[in-house]
Amino acid sequence: MNVTAIREQFPILHQEINGHPLVYLDSAASSQKPRSVIDAVMRYYELDNANVHRGVHTLGSRATDAYEGAREKVRKFLNAASTQEIIFTRGTTTALNLVASSYARSVCGEGDEIVLTPMEHHSNLIPWQQVAKATGATLKYIPLQPDGTIRLEDVEETINERTKIVSVMYVSNVLGIVNPVKEIAAIAHRHGAKMVVDGAQSTPHMRVDVQDLDCDFYAFSGHKMCAPTGIGALYGKKALLEEMEPIEFGGEMIDHVDLYESTWKELPWKFEGGTPIISGAVGLGAAIDFLEEIGLDNIEAHEHALSAYAYERLSAIDGITIYGPNQNRVGIVTFNIGDVHPHDVATVLDTKGIAVRAGHHCCQPLMRWLNASATARASFYLYNTEEDVNRLADALHQTKEFFGYAIG
Ligand code: PMP
Repeated sequence: MNVTAIREQFPILHQEINGHPLVYLDSAASSQKPRSVIDAVMRYYELDNANVHRGVHTLGSRATDAYEGAREKVRKFLNAASTQEIIFTRGTTTALNLVASSYARSVCGEGDEIVLTPMEHHSNLIPWQQVAKATGATLKYIPLQPDGTIRLEDVEETINERTKIVSVMYVSNVLGIVNPVKEIAAIAHRHGAKMVVDGAQSTPHMRVDVQDLDCDFYAFSGHKMCAPTGIGALYGKKALLEEMEPIEFGGEMIDHVDLYESTWKELPWKFEGGTPIISGAVGLGAAIDFLEEIGLDNIEAHEHALSAYAYERLSAIDGITIYGPNQNRVGIVTFNIGDVHPHDVATVLDTKGIAVRAGHHCCQPLMRWLNASATARASFYLYNTEEDVNRLADALHQTKEFFGYAIG
């Protein structure tokens, strides 16, 4: 993988922040965008912009082709069987809420169980809490091992005949761990439960095959994988999506409307009420082309190497705690230095042009499990280099000197 050539394609990376060349280590929150994606969105607005699915005029059909063409790219990217199984959403959060509000509320009742893990992002936690409150179902958690991983024996113990839904993140946005979602899906199915996968942190970084995983639903966000904000998708097995009721009603999603009754369009449009995020879908399609050209396997290998190097360099810093195991992880390294608040660490790093995230990362229950109120997180993507890691490690050494009193 020619990272120098890849970096050339990201205009934002070539600037100074606070007098230093930018080192962007916050891609797990949102990735940067390559020129091809920026151009695709601009070209769409300059040449093809119109509303979709209605106009008979040329721009209307160009916009419709661009929007539906992007859906086919997503289908192929995830290896879904049909474009009817790809619903465009605002992102992972909206996709998971759609499953919770439509599917889960209709199948869950008193005595039923929904199984999660304590490492879930709030987006894959709160929608299920709301389902539990509304239906009388109970939430159950697969316990974590001391290093944050989950064991299949514990999955077997947690899932039973009362389980209706199992929802697990493929990759942890804090620990960088890749969870065995394929194996969990098999266990869920043996008990008649449905498997939901939060793919926010997996889709950008590794090859995903929803048919191989055999998950029932899979959610992801475009903005973490080089696409614009405001676009993502929900994959769902066709038979399940067909059973489900829409949760948003209005234009675009209807077949026939009468004064007292209406009927819905077929899949996937019945879930896409209102004018959709057309330019976002165009940008997502361009992002998929970009990632496919480089190769997801190459991207994954690059990030593995980079996070292993980061783990090694950061481990050498006195007083550092790195969370999660040093194996089977994507490009995410989460840490604390002594008693220094991670916001202070991130602020000092920013003065040196280095962008890292600090806070609870939308994982408050996991933070409590880690016994940390917050952490700092460096996350890598295809445009990061060993030099970026060196800059981070060197700056952290200086941070340590700066805050020496707190580390002891
Ligand atoms: N799940 C995980 C694991 C995430 O990392 C994120 C984004 N931080 C989300 C869900 C939510 O994604 P979005 O904000 O794009 O809806």
